[in-house]
Amino acid sequence: ILDLSHIKKSFGQNDVLKDISFKVDEGEVVSIIGPSGSGKSTLLRIATFLETMDDGSLSYLGHPYVTSQNGQAVYADKKALHQAMSNFGLVFQNFNLFPHFNVLENITDAPIRIQKRNKEEVYAQARELLSKMGLSDKEKAYPSQLSGGQQQRVSIARALALKPKILFFDEPTSALDPELTLEILKVIKELAAEKMTMVIVTHEMTFARDVSTRIVFMDQGVIVEETSPEKMFSSTNERTKAFLGKYH
Ligand code: ATP
Ligand code: MG
Repeated sequence: ILDLSHIKKSFGQNDVLKDISFKVDEGEVVSIIGPSGSGKSTLLRIATFLETMDDGSLSYLGHPYVTSQNGQAVYADKKALHQAMSNFGLVFQNFNLFPHFNVLENITDAPIRIQKRNKEEVYAQARELLSKMGLSDKEKAYPSQLSGGQQQRVSIARALALKPKILFFDEPTSALDPELTLEILKVIKELAAEKMTMVIVTHEMTFARDVSTRIVFMDQGVIVEETSPEKMFSSTNERTKAFLGKYH
């Protein structure tokens, strides 16, 4: 589905991504782990066009949207990028719901306004998603009236309403207390069981081990290792061991 190749990104003198290549196939659940500042969020932001890359290429479903020309990234036109964006959904650490929209409006706005889908169909789908998230009684509530865990479930429903082929999460539980964290991890596990393709940046190591088909360990702007959960957690790589050791 997603193919990122030879990505380079610097902020001033800070080389944040150093020649990263990263692919995601359909049905995979890929967790990205690594120390703070290793470039995980930057990689996710580049994959979702929230940030530009300096050099490298990117394609969704075999369509190139960024190509490398003479050592520089060249982006496709806006229309093509909009089309590329219809492939993915995004869930952030801080929920990012529209505060002046109620739950139902938060979920249905983009499908109706941007995807120009039929209203009845979108509302039916939104109610189905809310029921799946255990939030059927909250459709008229505003984000400020919900717990963090409920807000995060709304933002997952909002992302799913766009019918993405791939869902990205950037530390979806780091703003939540342990109980609400479990609630969200359970939802993500259910999505994994339904074979939703997902990329999850997380510090929840046990969760990463349970849910992932592959784990990517990043450190200082490079992918140190990417392998199955079993192999990652029995890695003999010194940097991997040092990082995972902090979680034992
Ligand atoms: P964390 O686990 O703390 O979220 P991370 O792996 O997601 O860390 P990034 O957010 O990708 O790390 O940041 C990687 C590096 O890039 C850091 O040194 C950070 O300070 C720098 N950086 C990120 N965004 C910007 C920006 N917009 N401008 C300047 N520097 C940035
Ligand atoms: Mg981050």
